[in-house]
Amino acid sequence: MPTDARGAPRRRAIHFVSLGCPKNRVDTEAMAGIARAEGYELAASPDQAEVLVVNTCGFIDPAKEESVDTILELAEVKARRPGTRLVVTGCLSQRHGDDLAAELPEVDHFLGSADVPRFREVLAGRAPRMAVSELDRRSYLVDHEAPRLRDGPRHFAYVKIAEGCDRPCGFCIIPKLRGPQRSRTIPSVVEEVARLADEGTREICLIAQDLTRYGVDLEPAVGLEHLLDALVRIDGIAWIRLHYAYPSAVTPELARRIAGYDKVASYLDVPIQHIDDEVLRRMRRGYGERRVRRMLDDLRAASEDAGRRIFLRTTLLVGHPGEDEDAFARLRDFVAEGHFDHLGVFPWSREAGTPSAMLPSRVPDDEARARADEILAVQAQVSADRQREFVGRVLEVVVDGPSETSEFVLEGRHEGQAPEIDGKVLLVDGTAEPGAVVRARVVAADTYDLVASLDLERPVEVAAESESDDEGGAFAPIT
Ligand code: SF4
Repeated sequence: MPTDARGAPRRRAIHFVSLGCPKNRVDTEAMAGIARAEGYELAASPDQAEVLVVNTCGFIDPAKEESVDTILELAEVKARRPGTRLVVTGCLSQRHGDDLAAELPEVDHFLGSADVPRFREVLAGRAPRMAVSELDRRSYLVDHEAPRLRDGPRHFAYVKIAEGCDRPCGFCIIPKLRGPQRSRTIPSVVEEVARLADEGTREICLIAQDLTRYGVDLEPAVGLEHLLDALVRIDGIAWIRLHYAYPSAVTPELARRIAGYDKVASYLDVPIQHIDDEVLRRMRRGYGERRVRRMLDDLRAASEDAGRRIFLRTTLLVGHPGEDEDAFARLRDFVAEGHFDHLGVFPWSREAGTPSAMLPSRVPDDEARARADEILAVQAQVSADRQREFVGRVLEVVVDGPSETSEFVLEGRHEGQAPEIDGKVLLVDGTAEPGAVVRARVVAADTYDLVASLDLERPVEVAAESESDDEGGAFAPIT
């Protein structure tokens, strides 16, 4: 039994490092729940733990490097504390487990991206060193039965509704990291979301590799629309937010639910990756510019019908083989049209094992990075123009907590801003608890963030076009 500084017996402690995306974080929280059930307490510092766990990311080179660096850092801690065990899990382990095992003798156990249930064996010392399972349709998926020990704010939570992906995108290694598509049942998701609502969670961020293929693998098959129809009946939830939709799978029915359901945040994260037909063909995305524009039209139509603006986030990939100057110019001009409120852009990186890695007509890395910077600069102008439209308006804002900038400032978000990836609303002239939903008048805007006053009578220097909006009732939708 481990003892504390005074020699008194204490519970065994475990330290987790969760890398990569929110889908990986959900897996880490499930492993943390298993550890607690096995009598472990979470240690904030690796120097206080008997077991060290790195849940790795293996998506692109920078993520792989960060994972290996983190493993080596914790291996140094292990070297200082004999008897400590080091466990590596997640995508890098799934992809390169055998190589890592050969190169990193310090690591005691390797688990894959779908081996959360085997974590109990690891803690009990019954697991083999290499415990990475092959991925198939029966591979594990965190569901309502997983003892998730959630990390972070209580008022919002990621809920993984499906895992894996069946799409053939040429640049993407994720199907090899997470396996084929497998969806949870609607009752399983409803049970988890209802439990989260009972625990005071107000905002649910639905995640998957491809949210819009949710349920196609279930018997009988269901769709994301059906899941939303069930989730909006749960009391206590303010916002259900949709992440990682596939452009050609965004239907008018889905658009109507995003705009029409009060409980669905009028927000959609839909990575289009590019707009040039030839580049999208080489990316094996299965759609072209016309389909993207039809999706935008459907979203705009649903938004106008419901009188509720749908905020859009997208992700672009520049420098993909075959992206010549003209193709890039088309993308840059498309971004300048101003369709997106939030946009992320990545330079293509050659991932061994993907079809795109074998393609000719490569774009030099520094050129790809320069293109990414150029897109960001164009989007910054789009964002600044859009932000200015908010000044003078009264918004519904969820409070995330105190701001890092000042003790007199709170941080929050309006429904068009997702946690951890989009801009925020800095709240002044008042206080409120994390998770509270407040009304605030926007008094200033910068490229990505807004400043809003909890004192609705506070005069605003620059009046917005339509002063009338704040008469639209307590939770006036943002049109
Ligand atoms: S849909 Fe997304 S996760 Fe699936 S292969 Fe394409 S890029 Fe990868």
